[in-house]
Amino acid sequence: MPDPDPLPAPAFDAHCHLDAMGQRAGVAPTREFVAGVMAQARAVNVTRVITVGDTIASSRWCVRAASEHPDVYAAVAVHPNEIGGLTDADYAELEQMARHPRVVAVGETGLDYYWDRTTPPDQQDHFRRHIDLAKRVRKPLMIHDRDAHDDVLRVLAEEGAPERVVFHAFSGDAAMARACVDAGYVLSFGGVVTFTNAPAVREAAASVNADQILVETDAPFLAPHPFRGRPNSPYLLAQTLLTLAAVQHLEVAELCVSLAQTGNTLFGFDLT
Ligand SMILES: [Zn+2]
Repeated sequence: MPDPDPLPAPAFDAHCHLDAMGQRAGVAPTREFVAGVMAQARAVNVTRVITVGDTIASSRWCVRAASEHPDVYAAVAVHPNEIGGLTDADYAELEQMARHPRVVAVGETGLDYYWDRTTPPDQQDHFRRHIDLAKRVRKPLMIHDRDAHDDVLRVLAEEGAPERVVFHAFSGDAAMARACVDAGYVLSFGGVVTFTNAPAVREAAASVNADQILVETDAPFLAPHPFRGRPNSPYLLAQTLLTLAAVQHLEVAELCVSLAQTGNTLFGFDLT
């Protein structure tokens, strides 16, 4: 299977894990490794990425990568399955990182009831702290929601959501999508929207306006169809974007323009 064709306009990957890509490939995620990933992405007109932290250590890594590469931006947070043992000192460091100019979001944070390494009450406490952090640093909140739709919406409403909220790898149905966009949240779609066994996620993507969506890879996880089985990587964003354009009944170039505008609004990008 050849790589996807280049996109007709530039696009950005709203959520990936460049450090985990290296780990999956069994190589250190060095500066050269990241440069290689970005070169491959640029070849298909994916010109920018947000690399997302899920622990304190990976958040540190993301800030450094974003400082080293002009087309890499960072998000910092501790994933709901990784909150065990998190201290006040960790939160202080997280806040310091979140204020870094190359950090464009607090994430990924949220609730994950699929795994049981951490309890729902603990997850909710830490989710609340991340919501508070996003509000204090005035950056968007990037949410991970797995099997926890109702509680994620409830906790956000109870705390008062930050001004800008993105649901990463949106996995809900059209009703959940409606609840999110009614609250002003943006939905970021990943490879799952291309899966033949995920019609509900496609319906969700079809049911909202183009200016309420983003596209992401969540690399190295969940490569889009027909590239499943390959390690996911930002260049495969091009494939997911084609599916989203078809679902939205838009020309691919039109969707790229809309995604760029949403990126400018959410993350303070300067994309045209
Ligand atoms: Zn992720």
